[in-house]
Amino acid sequence: LTPLIEIKNLKKYFNIGGQPLKAVDDLNLDIYPGETVGLVGESGCGKSTAGRTIIRLYEATEGEVLYNGKNIYDNNSNEMAKIRKDIQLIFQDPYASLNPRMTVEEIIGEPLTIHGELTGKRKRERILELLKLVGLNPEHINRFPHEFSGGQRQRIGIARALALNPKFIVCDEPISALDVSIQAQVVNLLKDLQKSMGLTYLFIAHDLSMVKYISDRILVMYLGNMMELCESEELYEEPLHPYTQALLSAVPIPNPKLKRERIVLQGDVPSPINPPSGCVFRTRCRHAMDICAQKKPDWKEAKPGHFVSCHLYNDSK
Ligand code: SF4
Ligand code: MG
Repeated sequence: LTPLIEIKNLKKYFNIGGQPLKAVDDLNLDIYPGETVGLVGESGCGKSTAGRTIIRLYEATEGEVLYNGKNIYDNNSNEMAKIRKDIQLIFQDPYASLNPRMTVEEIIGEPLTIHGELTGKRKRERILELLKLVGLNPEHINRFPHEFSGGQRQRIGIARALALNPKFIVCDEPISALDVSIQAQVVNLLKDLQKSMGLTYLFIAHDLSMVKYISDRILVMYLGNMMELCESEELYEEPLHPYTQALLSAVPIPNPKLKRERIVLQGDVPSPINPPSGCVFRTRCRHAMDICAQKKPDWKEAKPGHFVSCHLYNDSK
C-alpha cells in the first residue's frame, strides 16, 4: 500500500527575537489512503503548527511532504493548483473561522468561486447538496453564522472543506470548542463522510478521550517532538511512553479490568525556545535517568508497528 501523505524530516521553527522556537522538530509520518491518524498532545506541543505545515499553510523550515508521491514543497510543480483542492483544513473554532457577514451560501460557495469550479445554478445546487451531506437544512442557505448553534457552525465549516471534493483533510481540534453532547455527533459525521467520500484524515486533539473513536493510529507529540506512534487500540491498552501513560491516566476507561493509576504531570510544558537537553520530556518524567539529560532518545520500533522515543526501551526488540 502506498501512502497518500509522506512527511519527511519536517521542521517548523519560528524566529522569536533572534532565537529559534522549534514548534515542530523533525516530524516523520506516512498516512495511508482512507486512514485516520490522530495527532495528540497538550496545547503548545506544536500539533496545530504541524497540521498547517503539512498542508503548506505555513512554510516548512526544513523537510518535505509528499502527496501521492508529489512534493507539495516543489514550487516548480504545475500540479499545485490541483493538489491545493485535494487538501483541506477544518478549523478548531467554528465561531472564529466563519465570516459573520457572509451567508451560508457565500461561505460554502467561496472555495468554489476561488477555484473557478462552478457558477450560477450549478454552484447553488452543489451548495444545497453539501448542506444535506453535513446534516443541515438546505432551506437555511441564506442564513448567517450567528443563527446557528456551535455544532451546526462546525457543520458549515465541514461543508466548506468538502466543497472541492478533497482527498485529505487536516481536522484541527474540530470538536474541542463544542459541548460534550455535540462532540460525538460531529465525530460520527466525520466518520460517515470518510466512508462515503473516501477521505483520509489527520485528526488533531489535545487529549486522548474522543480521538480513539475516529483514529486508526495515533501519534503523540510533546514539545514539537514525536513521542509514540501505534495503532489506536494498542496505544490505549499498552502505552509505552511515560508521557502517553500520563495522558491516558486522565481518560476514564469503560473496561474495569484495565486498572490504571492516575499519573499527574507536574509543572508546565517547558518553553520551546529553550527546550530541555536530551529527552524533551525529562523535566516532567517520573522515570528520568541520567542518560535522559545527555542524549535524545532514538525513534525506534519497540514492537511491530509500535514506535517510541524513550531510553526505557533501548534494549527491547
Ligand atoms: Fe522519561 Fe527518559 Fe524516557 Fe524521556 S527518555 S520519557 S525522560 S525515561
Ligand atoms: Mg491548536
